[in-house]
Amino acid sequence: MKKTVLAFNRVSPELVERLQPHVELIVPSPERGDIATQFAAALPHTHGLIGAGRPLGEEQLRSAERLEVISSISVGYDNYDVDYLTQRGILLTNTPDVLTESTADLAFALLMSAARRVAELDAWTKAGNWKRTVESALFGCDVHGKTLGIVGLGNIGAAIARRGRLGFGMNVLYSGNSRKPALEQELGAQYRSLDELLGEADFVCLVVPLSAQTRHLIGRRELALMKPSAILVNIARGAVVDEAALIEALQEKRIRGAGLDVYEKEPLADSPLFALPQAVTLPHIGSATHETRQAMADRAVDNLLAALAGERPRDLVNPQAWRKA
Ligand code: NAP
Repeated sequence: MKKTVLAFNRVSPELVERLQPHVELIVPSPERGDIATQFAAALPHTHGLIGAGRPLGEEQLRSAERLEVISSISVGYDNYDVDYLTQRGILLTNTPDVLTESTADLAFALLMSAARRVAELDAWTKAGNWKRTVESALFGCDVHGKTLGIVGLGNIGAAIARRGRLGFGMNVLYSGNSRKPALEQELGAQYRSLDELLGEADFVCLVVPLSAQTRHLIGRRELALMKPSAILVNIARGAVVDEAALIEALQEKRIRGAGLDVYEKEPLADSPLFALPQAVTLPHIGSATHETRQAMADRAVDNLLAALAGERPRDLVNPQAWRKA
């Protein structure tokens, strides 16, 4: 008998096509009423969950008595209560690597846009303001040759650092949990404490996972350590930054600008950030290209089907659950 899989968010026709021959697939749909109700009704029969962007822990999964695996279509897994899943022997998988380069591209797009005021001046031009040569009040700042500070030199952090070093001749600093000798060798990257990095970098890029240790890693004190000419780029998770403190720093021009893809509360609505032209605000699209979302879905399907077949999935977040499963 086929096992039952419940899909939530990011469900593409391709994902449905790949899964359908192998499992009994349930995809909640607004046409059949409330999504949350359909989700809750399916949970007790579900062996596997696949999707992204939904907090899942004890409260949501109590009734999911048959659940064997959650396959997240994301690299970040801060939405899941990993300890609870592990304790219940539920496998959790993610999709690392396949989104690294696209997310690094987006980080650089934010950095460039904030530095050269791309989004702001696009809106300015389209509003019919371009009457004569642009004057210095609308100038941006250089990117090439500047100092790039990466907080969290993991897969995406390293890909951003390569763009900075090899594409723009930037000097790369990094902070994080551990030293990265290979990247120091490859890119001339230099390790700094977080405080030192904040004081030296012209661009600070946040690329750490959200955890108890990184929640509000950048707050009022840390923003005060940044140069007034510096730009903060956050493609990690919104809560890595104390957003109220960031808004205040931007309003008071204590830093030059920000490039943001993620927010403490998403979707972002009615934010004071909207009134700040020096803040570039994107709607959490780090991995949102056709190619990358397809690759992520494929990887998530592979992980899900392996786990349901009793094989150890490639991208297991909680290996301790493997022994229990
Ligand atoms: P990764 O390869 O695991 O890299 C994470 C890096 O963060 C590692 O270098 C790690 O250090 C460092 N780190 C972990 N905890 C830390 C702490 N408490 N303090 C300082 N550094 C810490 O992950 P990745 O693939 O690069 O992804 C990073 C994050 O980006 C994801 O978790 C996700 O939240 C976010 N992301 C966002 C988007 C988007 O759409 N905006 C897309 C993809 C990913 P060690 O190497 O020393 O362990």
